[in-house]
Amino acid sequence: MQNGITLRLILGDQLNSLHSWFRRVSQDIVYTLMEVRQETDVVTPHIQKVAGFFSAMRHFADDLARKGHRVLYLRLDDPHNEQSFDDNLIRLIRELAITRFEYMQPDDYRLDVQLARLASRLSVPSAVADTEHFLTTRDQVARHFRGKQRYLMESFYRQMRRRHDILMDNGAPAGGKWNYDQSNRRRYDGKVPLPEIPAFDNDVSDIVAMIHRCRVPTFGRIDPKKLIWPVTRDQALRQLHAFVDHRLRHFGTYQDAMTAQNGFLFHSLLSFALNTKMLHPLEVIQAAIDRGGSNSGEPVGIEQLEGFVRQILGWREYMRGIYWAHMPAYASMNHFGHRTGLPGFYWSGDTRMNCLRRVICQSLEHAYAHHIQRLMVTGNFALLAGIHPDDVDRWYLGVYMDAVQWVEIVNTRGMSQYADGGLVATKPYISSANYIHKMSDYCDACHYHWQKPAGERACPFNSLYWAFVHRHRRLLAGNPRVAMMVRTWDRMQARKREDVLAQAEAYQAALEEL
Ligand SMILES: Cc1cc2nc3c(=O)[nH]c(=O)nc-3n(C[C@H](O)[C@H](O)[C@H](O)COP(=O)(O)OP(=O)(O)OC[C@H]3O[C@@H](n4cnc5c(N)ncnc54)[C@H](O)[C@@H]3O)c2cc1C
Ligand code: SF4
Repeated sequence: MQNGITLRLILGDQLNSLHSWFRRVSQDIVYTLMEVRQETDVVTPHIQKVAGFFSAMRHFADDLARKGHRVLYLRLDDPHNEQSFDDNLIRLIRELAITRFEYMQPDDYRLDVQLARLASRLSVPSAVADTEHFLTTRDQVARHFRGKQRYLMESFYRQMRRRHDILMDNGAPAGGKWNYDQSNRRRYDGKVPLPEIPAFDNDVSDIVAMIHRCRVPTFGRIDPKKLIWPVTRDQALRQLHAFVDHRLRHFGTYQDAMTAQNGFLFHSLLSFALNTKMLHPLEVIQAAIDRGGSNSGEPVGIEQLEGFVRQILGWREYMRGIYWAHMPAYASMNHFGHRTGLPGFYWSGDTRMNCLRRVICQSLEHAYAHHIQRLMVTGNFALLAGIHPDDVDRWYLGVYMDAVQWVEIVNTRGMSQYADGGLVATKPYISSANYIHKMSDYCDACHYHWQKPAGERACPFNSLYWAFVHRHRRLLAGNPRVAMMVRTWDRMQARKREDVLAQAEAYQAALEEL
């Protein structure tokens, strides 16, 4: 190490305590973490998201200090806080007579550009370190699909299984199949009791009071004495072990199920811990595989295990690769040219559509919804109603605990809104009430009738769905996965089609009242 003092920046989603940076303790290195308005104000965030990130950052800083590292933590209300990374860093470099600046590669495109720009104009030399978190490099997905029009996740995922020798048996997929989706994804039938969710009771009252004092605009609910999300690596590990011991064995089976009784079902709730890097994806995968191979407790079938591994080894790395292959253009893609504003009930849950009310209220309560709730309820409705992808993105980026742009935007704009024209999704993820009724109990207690396409109390998903098929018939007819929808629409009696389109028009004009 050269003489002088190095300043190392750790971003709020870089809380990787296993990083090689921390192997050596040196008084010549100052680590800095900062709470800044630059980040809280990107979109309006859920209060639990801000409190959770700040709490995890503070614990991380305390832990580093306890281990003997020099740490400089800037709180949001610190009078010396300039509220932007650039201004704070320039000040610290000057005041601490820093001779070298280092930062970890940001996962957010905006910060990547900002910090590279800052580093190039600093008076001291700088270096960028890998976050040592992901299993792929930024450009690996793009290289895998070079020359291809579509990026099929399945082929990337199989390559990852082979490369990392995960769930492989002498070069063949364990259990004989790559994909067990057919055996998974059932409706919740009540046969297996719903699990208790390990909720932590982190007291974040001081952080919440500070957020209010600083007038950071937020939404959603919080019990400041009981934040349920893990904010330390120790808690994240407990979350992981509770999942593999008690919920993994039903994960795949009920992966797509939705019930008003419990919004978490058998999901892992690990995305916040993973996205802040408190957990490493390989240790999560390994814990699941170890549990699958263990003889103690109830057995975990290969379908459950594969279904879970696919999410982390496949989808998570794939989404990141798409992000880096297509940013910054991705952030403004709007394939269908949608222009409608996001209805107000996304912020309040105040709608008579029970599925949306349930999922939105759960999101406001816990900053969480599982994948199918995000894709087939809130996302589906936004796509059918022609909401501008910018609005949809802003909502998803704000509301969920795990929302960081590299994974949020590809899921939202790509998979859910098809705004990238089919780069990620093999078809637009739209459905009528049929799917929601099949996979949930929401329709049972709804103001609307799930079977009715038009007329009094007809479910809005139905007419909006058919109007979407009608509008985009050329696109859909050319896609073998959904061409059937167009044929069904074409076979409908002309009179019925007119009624459905009139109903859709009426609903579209009164979205706020639904
Ligand atoms: C519109 C929309 C927006 C989304 N926004 C985000 C987001 O901002 N941040 C985020 O982490 N995930 C996002 N997802 C993906 C997924 O919904 C969440 O990762 C998952 O619901 C988190 O809950 P869990 O930890 O209980 O996941 P589980 O269902 O238990 O899955 C295990 C893990 O697999 C990973 N995973 C699963 N599905 C995906 C996926 N499609 N893409 C990437 N990783 C995946 C996550 O790390 C997750 O923790 C979004 C999905 C949709 C449809
Ligand atoms: S009837 Fe329609 S609006 Fe009501 S819960 Fe079912 S799908 Fe949702």
